[in-house]
Amino acid sequence: MSVTSVFAQLERLLPRISKPIQYVGGELGAVVKDWDAVTVRWALSYPDAYEVGLPNQGVQILYEVLNEQPDVLAERTYAVWPDLEQLMRAEGVPQFTVDAHRPVGAFDLFGVSFATELGYTNLLNMLDLAGIPLDARERDERHPIVVAGGHAAFNPEPIADFIDAAVLGDGEEAVLEITAIVRKWKAEGEPGGRDELLLRLARTESVYVPRFYDVDYLPDGRIQRIVPNRADVPFRVHKRTTMDLDAWPYPKRPLVPLAETVHERYAVEIFRGCTRGCRFCQAGMITRPVRERSITTVGQMVKEGLEFSGFHEVGLLSLSSADHSEIGDMCSGLAQQYEGTNVSLSLPSTRVDAFNVTLAQELSRNGRRTGLTFAPEGGSERIRQVINKMVTEEDLIRTVVTAYTNGWRQVKLYFMCGLPTETDEDVLQIAKLAHEVIRAGREATGSRDIRCTVSIGGFVPKPHTPFQWASMTEPEVIDRRLKALKDAINSDRSLGKAIGYRYHDGEPSQVEALLSRGDRRVGAVIRRVWENGGRFDGWSEHFSFQRWTDAAAEVLPEFGVDLAWFTTREREQNEVLPWDHLDSGLDKDWLWQDWQDALTGYEQDDCRWTPCFDCGVCPSQDTEIQIGPTGRKLLPLTPVAGLRVPHA
Ligand code: SF4
Repeated sequence: MSVTSVFAQLERLLPRISKPIQYVGGELGAVVKDWDAVTVRWALSYPDAYEVGLPNQGVQILYEVLNEQPDVLAERTYAVWPDLEQLMRAEGVPQFTVDAHRPVGAFDLFGVSFATELGYTNLLNMLDLAGIPLDARERDERHPIVVAGGHAAFNPEPIADFIDAAVLGDGEEAVLEITAIVRKWKAEGEPGGRDELLLRLARTESVYVPRFYDVDYLPDGRIQRIVPNRADVPFRVHKRTTMDLDAWPYPKRPLVPLAETVHERYAVEIFRGCTRGCRFCQAGMITRPVRERSITTVGQMVKEGLEFSGFHEVGLLSLSSADHSEIGDMCSGLAQQYEGTNVSLSLPSTRVDAFNVTLAQELSRNGRRTGLTFAPEGGSERIRQVINKMVTEEDLIRTVVTAYTNGWRQVKLYFMCGLPTETDEDVLQIAKLAHEVIRAGREATGSRDIRCTVSIGGFVPKPHTPFQWASMTEPEVIDRRLKALKDAINSDRSLGKAIGYRYHDGEPSQVEALLSRGDRRVGAVIRRVWENGGRFDGWSEHFSFQRWTDAAAEVLPEFGVDLAWFTTREREQNEVLPWDHLDSGLDKDWLWQDWQDALTGYEQDDCRWTPCFDCGVCPSQDTEIQIGPTGRKLLPLTPVAGLRVPHA
């Protein structure tokens, strides 16, 4: 059945709202297909505003992979700002896609990618605006199957009531498999309705359908067990891993935004996975094993991506880009290819060693110097051992001084506050380090014109990490430590003047902790927050801690638990965790042992360079880590000189 565009209704509202261009679509790279000429239709979303959602790499990849299928269409939808939401509700305009302005409620599937749990209230708002019942059990064959993906989907229990399914891990192959199941079910005349379709998805063992699992609780509030409520679904749902990144060189046709966005660049993922073993890092743990994209594929992707998009900036992305086995050749090859053009190349530079500075130096041959960020994460040697971030004070000072002597005037140092076992003294050590960095930098350069910025993030214990059992530090303690750190930095006026200090207060982290380690009971809190106006919780100007604490205080006592029970309570080894039936490949016993090792300060090496330490991932995926060197060079590509400026 044909579906009508809502653009005529929307167009009347556009003069009355801010940044209307974000809702009109038509970007370079956008695809519009004939609705009636395809059999399976996906609406895809990153549940945030266009400016954050459009550059999302995961959504862009799936959008392209799906649209390459002749009988499939995929369109994008983003969270609308409150000014448009108000008008849409008043005028009866539903949640729409930006590509063809079709109502999201008309699609077969609605895929939502969550990088952070703070997007959950936006999910509810999008569902409501789309006319899709919030409670998944109230949906029928007229409604899309709502599928969650992204890192937060590794514990989707807090949103279990609102989604129909979740996919753990890489999406490229999973979306095609889901599409094939939907295509077949539709071709057969939709036998058994929505329930049968969900069952077919669940039987793949890599699509989690929460309604097919029951959760029982103990009298003290802990989970007793999570078990399937029907015989034909698996006890555990496994993550998906795309092993050969060269076979999936996406995005090939990156979207070029019309409105301003947070990143306007061509981003190439140079590898997936990380084995450095930072114990706080969920991304590093759940994306194992390491899989490198070859140097030749990276070169080809950069060439084609720039030619298509006209972008002037390339980001070589991964969780620790300097660790690619051929990163040196890759950087010098690309720098050489694009020397004399207006293309700037960047590497997210968080590894604390001089090699990183060398790479950044190489990439800045064009005279375009990007910022340098180093992430020691912990202020004292002791706490860095706890988190398995093997960086000594000497490493850090030597690295930053190398950057200063190579012409950088400003570096950024990233730390976390609230880490397990942390004391006031661990945090105050950050001031000492920053002072030392400036002192040594002034001495090495003979100049007072150097600066560093100390940036602090709040630690949140995450599922599928060794710190999944840890208690979270109370926000008052974090705020007190951060205030003391500020005073310590400024205790020496001369050094303090050269140090910038940025931090977030502890409250949003508490909510993130509730949502990331929560169970199905937390769904009622999310719903109450949304009903009370919660939207865009990742934006400080929209976030209200009071709204979350009020909702938690109203909803959770009925279950005999409270906010602190989810956040500051340390879990015991035998506790059933809400995500225990979701298999990231990591062995739970290994994670527990690594948590115990953290408490004694034992450091775990990187299995990329040292023998396997049996975290469990490779055997569970029937594979092994895949790294070079391939010994190949960048292809002799023709540099993309005189790039056109998009939409100039
Ligand atoms: S199974 Fe072994 S080689 Fe594979 S990621 Fe884990 S520790 Fe490394």
